[in-house]
Parts: sequence; structure tokens; C-alpha cells
Amino acid sequence: MGGRNLLLSLAAGAGLAWSVYLGNGLLYRKELLQEVQRKMPAVMQNLEEDFAIDFEGEKPKEGAMFFPFPLLLGMYSFQDNAIEIDAPAFAWKDQSEREEKLESTLRHETGHFYHDLRSEKLGRKSDTCAYESEYTTRFCNLLSEGISGYLQKVTEAEVNKKFLNHREGYYLIKPLMDEFGVQPVVDYIVTHPPEVIGNLRDDVLNYQREIQDALRERK
Ligand SMILES: [Zn+2]
Repeated sequence: MGGRNLLLSLAAGAGLAWSVYLGNGLLYRKELLQEVQRKMPAVMQNLEEDFAIDFEGEKPKEGAMFFPFPLLLGMYSFQDNAIEIDAPAFAWKDQSEREEKLESTLRHETGHFYHDLRSEKLGRKSDTCAYESEYTTRFCNLLSEGISGYLQKVTEAEVNKKFLNHREGYYLIKPLMDEFGVQPVVDYIVTHPPEVIGNLRDDVLNYQREIQDALRERK
């Protein structure tokens, strides 16, 4: 087989795998949504108990999205207050892995919902942060992923394998939440957006110190 034919058959193979991946997701979508709806009340109740937080009876909208690549397990829309879990990404997993990953993903996305809820309760817009430039957007995402990672109970080993924002967010947020609890830290962040200088390491440490100082004073 010539190089070109080999490439063509590899491409056809990848295309076929991709169609199977998507087709499976399409079939699974409705079932997934039902699973999400069944699990959400317990996920929220556990978060309230584990972290002494209160959703005050509010809940996010739930959806089963159809993302064409195996990159995202779920996402949260601050605009629509909606959690979306990706059907194709979950379709192929076996039952026990699916259960575990789904719960963990729901905890994470519900963490974003809690962040959003507190900012709305405290009279802010959904956007709690200044998404002015690529850098400030990254810093905002880092805070958001740190909050959600903590509620997800992500471990250090897991977080070290993740994308940059998740990892740095985790190291910024974790010591604060360990010391002061979840709600005081989230409330501080949504009412005192970070002032950044553009050096990520310094900005992370300075903002962490600022929160520490402010919350220690209140103790
Ligand atoms: Zn996230």
C-alpha cells in the first residue's frame, strides 16, 4: 500500500471512529439528561452539607449537550445559569466510571453555579470579573476553576494533570477555603475583583495574600 493510500485509509478509519463516537453520544443524550436530573438534588445537598453552603433553594438549568470532540465533560453558562453535560464524552464510558465521572463533573459545574449565584445575590452581574484582556480573562477563569475544583474535591494528583487554569486556580483557592471556608472566599472574590499587574505568579500570590489578610482581620 502506498503512503498516500495508507494516509487515506487512516483518515477513513478516524472518520469512522468519530462517527461512531458521535452516534453513540446522540443515542445516549436523552438517557444522560435523565441521569443528570436524577443525580442533581443529591449532588447539591451533599455540597451544602460538605461545605456549609446554601443554594437557598435555587438550582441550575440542566442540559445534555452535544460537543463534537472528546475534550469537555461539562460546562457551565454564567449567562443562562445552565449546566451542560457532554453526551458523546460520557456515552462510551462503562457504568461505574460513568457514575463516578458524572458525579464529579456535576460537583464541578455546580461549583460554577454557586459562584454565579453568590455574585447575583451580592448584586453583581454574572460577570464577576474584568474580562478586558486575554490576561485578565485568564485570571478570572483561573479563580472560577479554582472555586469549582475545590467543590469538586479534585485531588492534587488530578489537578496537576489538568489545564493550566485549573491547576493555578486550585493552588490559589485551596489554602484559602481550607482556612476560611467556601462562602467567605467566594463572597470576597465577587465583591473585590482582583487588580492584576500582568505577572501571573505575582498576581496569584498577591491576590491570595490580600484575601488572607482581609479574612483574618474579620475572624
Ligand atoms: Zn470549570
